Amino acid sequence: MSKQGIRSVVAMDHAHVWHPFTQMRDWLGSRPIVLVSGKGSVLRDANGKEYLDANSSIWTNLHGHRHPRLDMAVRRQLAKVAHVSALGFANVPASRLASRLSREAGLPKVFFSDDGSTAMETALKLAHEFTRRTRRARARTRFVSMEGAYHGDTVGAVSLGHIDLFHRAYGGLLFPTDSVMSPYCYRCPFNRARPDAADARSYRKCNWECVGRFESVVTKASRHGKAHAAFVYEPVVQGAAGMIMQPDGWLQRVADIARGHGLLLVADEVMTGFGRTGGDGLFAGNNQDVVPDLLAVAKGLSGGYLPLAATLASQPIFDAFTGEYGEFKTFFHGHSYTANPLGCAVALESMKLLSSKASIRQRDLLASWMQRDLPRLWRHDAVGDIRVEGTLGAVELVRNRATRQPFHLAERVGARVCDAMARRGVLTRPVGNVVVLMPPYCTTAGQWGRIIEAIDDAMEELSPA
Ligand code: PMP
Repeated sequence: MSKQGIRSVVAMDHAHVWHPFTQMRDWLGSRPIVLVSGKGSVLRDANGKEYLDANSSIWTNLHGHRHPRLDMAVRRQLAKVAHVSALGFANVPASRLASRLSREAGLPKVFFSDDGSTAMETALKLAHEFTRRTRRARARTRFVSMEGAYHGDTVGAVSLGHIDLFHRAYGGLLFPTDSVMSPYCYRCPFNRARPDAADARSYRKCNWECVGRFESVVTKASRHGKAHAAFVYEPVVQGAAGMIMQPDGWLQRVADIARGHGLLLVADEVMTGFGRTGGDGLFAGNNQDVVPDLLAVAKGLSGGYLPLAATLASQPIFDAFTGEYGEFKTFFHGHSYTANPLGCAVALESMKLLSSKASIRQRDLLASWMQRDLPRLWRHDAVGDIRVEGTLGAVELVRNRATRQPFHLAERVGARVCDAMARRGVLTRPVGNVVVLMPPYCTTAGQWGRIIEAIDDAMEELSPA
């Protein structure tokens, strides 16, 4: 693109585009990277500079950009029709995709929507209405979710979340939800070792105190006539909370307790779904033998191509919404682009790719490189913890490794490391003080080597303000 062309795009952006989760005063004072094309794990800007997409375009991309089979799936569908309504009509890709998703997840019904927030909003309404109709809750439906949870930005999804920084502004709009502690082993308030850690013996033995806390929140509520309708959680890794990786066994334990008290399980696999956390199946919870009642998926569902999401539901939940027309048990909810054929066509192709031997091998390799190379970063004093789950890597930065004292968020330490990585041709975004590495599955050994080099060098530059 010509210098003049780039200047004009930036001028229009600065004049009119309001960017998400962005302090626009900083943005208006910056020269943005204008991305124009991509191939595999590489993105190219308007000046022709290449970058590695080290967070898979905010956790969405799986097989790389412009994958020939995914491009072809969109083209094939485009030659037929781009969009038809799901209100009163079936379409071919949506039917096929629903059948495949249902088989993979072990849940029979699929309600399509547009993104992670709308998938969670759907789950919330279904859980609420199912509970009311089956009189599982005596009073109003109450939800319990995890400390630091992020489930999206619609008002219902925000109510389920517990990130004060994002949510405090909307207090007046939200309904109250309870929170339970996350199994954040690195910051374990009981000073226990991660139960599955290799060095567990050098710490005090974990007695699953966090699970005990979970049980007491759930039991207390039910004893006071305020039983929870559902437990809402991200299985295996809690993303925006800081890439908190749950120790093996935590999910089964809390799921058993929740079920024992009659709670529905509402799993948010918007980030963890489609193989990201490793394992044989495509869903993190299923790989731990925990099949929820409601499951929200988005992001990687379309391989990172188009906005598409789905909420999968169990048969009993579906049944609570069926009846004579005049009973008006219909699920009165949906969107104009629900079950969009272009999105469904590319999602179906992405799911086929995911089950191919080549893709499984790619994921295994990438995961093994992450396990092997990330410990290299321990040489930097600011590294407090290094976490890896499947093809998801996280580096938590701290002011003091011994005391685990965090940096103040206003210091933008995570963002500064990511800025320095961008100058070295590697793009990612932090969650607070945690640098996230989550490249597409097609990332090659050489490209992974460049990512690790970029973060290693960027950390050298870090001099806390
Ligand atoms: N749930 C989780 C676990 C997420 O990570 C996100 C997005 N980061 C959402 C929900 C919301 O998804 P979206 O941005 O597509 O609305």
